[in-house]
Amino acid sequence: MTAQLKLFDNLTGIDKTIMDKSKPIKIFNCGPTVSDFIHIGHFRNALLVDVLIRILSEIGYKDVLYVSNVSNISQKIYNRSLREKDRSWSELGMYYMYQWIKDLSVCNVITPNIIMPDTNHVNSIINFVQNLLNMNVAYETQKGVYYKIKYLHDIFDKNNIKNLPLIKAIHDNNEDILIWEKVFDSSDNMVWNSPWGNGRPGKHIPCSDVIDQYCGEDDYLIHCAGDDLYYHHSCEISHNLIGKKNSKIADIWVYNSLVNVEDQKMGKSLGNSVPLRELIKRYSPESIRWYLLSFKFSSVIKYSEKDLSKAALEWEKIESKIKNFKKVKRSNDNKFYYEKVIAELSNNLNTAKALQIINAQTVNSIDISVINTSVYLLDMLGFNIENII
Ligand SMILES: [Zn+2]
Repeated sequence: MTAQLKLFDNLTGIDKTIMDKSKPIKIFNCGPTVSDFIHIGHFRNALLVDVLIRILSEIGYKDVLYVSNVSNISQKIYNRSLREKDRSWSELGMYYMYQWIKDLSVCNVITPNIIMPDTNHVNSIINFVQNLLNMNVAYETQKGVYYKIKYLHDIFDKNNIKNLPLIKAIHDNNEDILIWEKVFDSSDNMVWNSPWGNGRPGKHIPCSDVIDQYCGEDDYLIHCAGDDLYYHHSCEISHNLIGKKNSKIADIWVYNSLVNVEDQKMGKSLGNSVPLRELIKRYSPESIRWYLLSFKFSSVIKYSEKDLSKAALEWEKIESKIKNFKKVKRSNDNKFYYEKVIAELSNNLNTAKALQIINAQTVNSIDISVINTSVYLLDMLGFNIENII
């Protein structure tokens, strides 16, 4: 396949093409805080990486490894365990981590090759913090260890970072960053022993440590994330540049936009969360996939049940059209059609355009080579086609 993948780098604001198909590619995605079931916004982020991996593999990038952390050291989880009483914070975190994997698997979403819960690498995080102290970019106080924010401003300037929300985030939070929190409360058991006494990692350091462990200097590093948490990402960038093995920011920073409900970000605390688990009781995973992929990842989705129902109907029409053909097979027979769709996907993962083409071709065609190609493309895009051919 001759197509090369072009992706928009959200940090520098330029399109970048991954030229060398044999170079190892590491994809890092900021993992979930496992305090509850995932909602459709989390699912969209998982789908971004899923589609990215599928297209990389389809057009011939050979060596791709998907790495994610899982935030299971979190005040949110700790507070929930205090409220619920019957499960410890670590049991709660483990439970929701497995539910996250289960929900993604049910929907045929590619899960990470390496899943690293924060609790599994605290020693490494302690070394990371020590390294920042040794380099004199961090310092210890009575409350914890802090990273000096002035280095972050320098890093942004030197690396041509043009992302305005990221720049704004560090100006709005112009305080040194807590990378190790000391804990003196003896009833608090979310603690580890460290050179600075009992405590736990700061919020932003675990991602940096996982990147440092699994993504080497020679890898092509694609960092995926939802386009919120700007402050978190700013912190991650600064820590990465002075990690133990790495001294670079990700080569490409790919964001998915959010799923909003009536112009508001979706979240359990806001009371407008749409849990994936609820949706899959009423819609097939394919319908939900069709709905989400009918938007470009860079577009904000204003979630509405009406739009999701419409997308589900569109998907059902495609399903029944394919079912009406006998002897359908998964084969990209119609090269012109196939390459048109691949060209859209290779151009910043333009799933919206790709789905429009697939829809128009499938619904209007009486040609078996077109239908076979639709089946091939849908399967490649993660739609379960077992039941329709
Ligand atoms: Zn992160």
